[in-house]
Amino acid sequence: MSEAVLTPAEIVVVGAGMVAHRFVENLIATAETPIHVTVIGDEARHPYDRTGISGLLSSATPEALELDRSVFEDFRVRFVADDRVLRIDRGARTVMTRARRIVGYDSLVLATGSYAGSGGIDGSDLRGCFGYRTLDDVQRLERFAHRRRHELRRPLRGAVIGDGPLAIEAAGALQLLGVAPVVVQHSDRLTSATAVSEARGFSFAGLLEARGVALRAGSQVARVAADSSGAVGAVHLGDAVEPVDLVVLAVGVRPRDELARNASIGVDPRGGIVVDESGTTSDPHVFAIGDVACVEGRPVHALAHGYAMPDVTAARILHANEMKPRRHLIASTTGALRPSMPVATGSRRVRALQAV
Ligand SMILES: Cc1cc2nc3c(=O)[nH]c(=O)nc-3n(C[C@H](O)[C@H](O)[C@H](O)COP(=O)(O)OP(=O)(O)OC[C@H]3O[C@@H](n4cnc5c(N)ncnc54)[C@H](O)[C@@H]3O)c2cc1C
Repeated sequence: MSEAVLTPAEIVVVGAGMVAHRFVENLIATAETPIHVTVIGDEARHPYDRTGISGLLSSATPEALELDRSVFEDFRVRFVADDRVLRIDRGARTVMTRARRIVGYDSLVLATGSYAGSGGIDGSDLRGCFGYRTLDDVQRLERFAHRRRHELRRPLRGAVIGDGPLAIEAAGALQLLGVAPVVVQHSDRLTSATAVSEARGFSFAGLLEARGVALRAGSQVARVAADSSGAVGAVHLGDAVEPVDLVVLAVGVRPRDELARNASIGVDPRGGIVVDESGTTSDPHVFAIGDVACVEGRPVHALAHGYAMPDVTAARILHANEMKPRRHLIASTTGALRPSMPVATGSRRVRALQAV
């Protein structure tokens, strides 16, 4: 006897940041046909409000910054934390992770966000240099500042290299840690952020001054130098040396587009996965949303834009999967069906079963 079952469309999301969370929330709220969503994130926590990470240094707890947990706890969603997707096999329509999971997909959504850029500054890998992007970054910075103050037995000074809103935010974070900040603008590339701020009617220098933060404007950072212990000791500028005990790199952001690049999916020469207005990449089964996407030659890099994408992409994916007949005859009598090869999750498994 045969029985018809409705096979869920298998949707895999890489990255568990703010935009991925919004995407899944939208997907499960609007899906009218069965779906199964696997979200794989390389941070060891539930998605959180990245824009609020500095709050950890005042009153917030990591739990208070978490986004609505019920989204990833929905019965249609499987959340894999603390694992990283290393490779996409577009032929087999699978992704492979660091923990050697192989997950099949009908639609793949890349929501891998950005790296905090180091601007390729020499010495940016020294002990005492930090990015400013994740809750872990903030916790590491806090631990280092406490330890370093104890070791040196004097007040600390810290440099924030960069400009724009993130540099202002990082300088504020140092103040909350009791570290005296100096913001160092690095390279001509970054003056564009300052120019945008000033065109919008506020002055970068003025904002820093109002917060009691020193500014070294127009300085080319040659390198970050170590002290005798091997930790950060100074920032060397073209014309001077700033003695500092730690450095926060807020030198712009860089899309984490290497998965697409390695799978020969179209990437903009300046970075970011090229997508159309529905988030579709050069492969119709692969989508990109949020900071990693590049729409009409422009990177996204802001939530206002990033949050507009998931709704459109979710609708596009649901529509694409609704259009396909997804009814498969999968069972007849006991033991009649066996997979022809080791298989991953999802409806590709069913395709393999059908082939037997
Ligand atoms: C301190 C701070 C303040 C900010 N303030 C504002 C603001 O006021 N307004 C605004 O518009 N924007 C702000 N932003 C920017 C905003 O946070 C980003 O635009 C937003 O987080 C982008 O979301 P996303 O989901 O695309 O990427 P992300 O939030 O970066 O999430 C991507 C996730 O994917 C994971 N990942 C990457 N590669 C893999 C892989 N191969 N496998 C598994 N997981 C992977 C990453 O670890 C990360 O967890 C701020 C950013 C920071 C750091």
